[in-house]
Amino acid sequence: MNTDTKFYRLAIIGVGLIGGSLARALRLADACTDVIGYGRNVAHLKKAVSLGVIDDFKTDVAAAVKDADMVVVSVPLGAMSTVFKQMLPALSRDATITDVGSAKASVMNDARKHLGERMFSFVPGHPIAGTEKSGVEASTADLFKNRCVILTPLEETGSIALQRVRAMWELTGAEVVEMEPHHHDEVLAATSHLPHILAYSLVDTLARSAQGEEIFRFAAGGFRDFTRIASSDPVMWRDICLANRDAILGILGKYTNDLEQLAKAIKSGDGDFILKSFSQAKQQRDRILVKIPPTST
Ligand code: NAP
Repeated sequence: MNTDTKFYRLAIIGVGLIGGSLARALRLADACTDVIGYGRNVAHLKKAVSLGVIDDFKTDVAAAVKDADMVVVSVPLGAMSTVFKQMLPALSRDATITDVGSAKASVMNDARKHLGERMFSFVPGHPIAGTEKSGVEASTADLFKNRCVILTPLEETGSIALQRVRAMWELTGAEVVEMEPHHHDEVLAATSHLPHILAYSLVDTLARSAQGEEIFRFAAGGFRDFTRIASSDPVMWRDICLANRDAILGILGKYTNDLEQLAKAIKSGDGDFILKSFSQAKQQRDRILVKIPPTST
């Protein structure tokens, strides 16, 4: 296996927001000589070439990974399994494989099913960075700068593969941390997946209410801030909900229970309960988030 941590023939499988941003960042860091993209839509891929994100493209996964020494899978979670299956016969001996999926246990299962003996070259990953926008047009070279990237190495993962993927992300300006896949999924269910579900659900409820249009006309800044993430790609978030079902249902259950308690307090006029709940939330948010730079996901 190639132990070089800097120069790659990079294959980006899914040249969208995350794959495109990674390609841009690695080009800027002069980390790769050649970037090849895979996608289904030729117009999207031509756009990626014209933006200078990739050098060339293929609409066949096997053709795209051939001769690549770094393969980054950045398709929605529901497409990971098929992509792993299609790439296996064409992977070069030197290739390290990683992904950027927002849930990790499902990717681990998909990879184990299809990558077989190449699992030693596979390092699951998840950049904690993004926006509500999708597609290569939204990609930027600094998306990962000062952000956190979580790697969830498996027992099969080889140390050289891990070292190469860590080095790749560090070249983008990200801080790399390691986590166990199921723990990752529980943490992200609470901090990212639940807020997205709440935003989608709130906007949908209001939009379907009798006064939907009127409500949105008078929506103030808070509503806009809180619901920005409901503009995210529905396919990606459907896949995340299905891939991280157990962890999401766990935190959603706790949340709906707490929301019911709040509803009861409002109904019974229990101002003390309401004030206590809001004050605790304010204190915790002020204490915790003041130390953390803002991120969109
Ligand atoms: P995106 O902008 O929509 O890009 C996804 C790319 O994958 C598209 O360029 C698309 O190319 C290709 N694709 C879509 N469906 C496919 C399918 N069924 N089979 C093969 N290729 C397909 O999405 P993204 O935001 O970059 O997300 C990509 C991955 O990053 C997801 O796994 C997501 O969970 C993860 N992630 C996202 C964020 C975020 O904030 N957006 C943050 C961290 C991680 P074509 O249209 O040409 O097929």
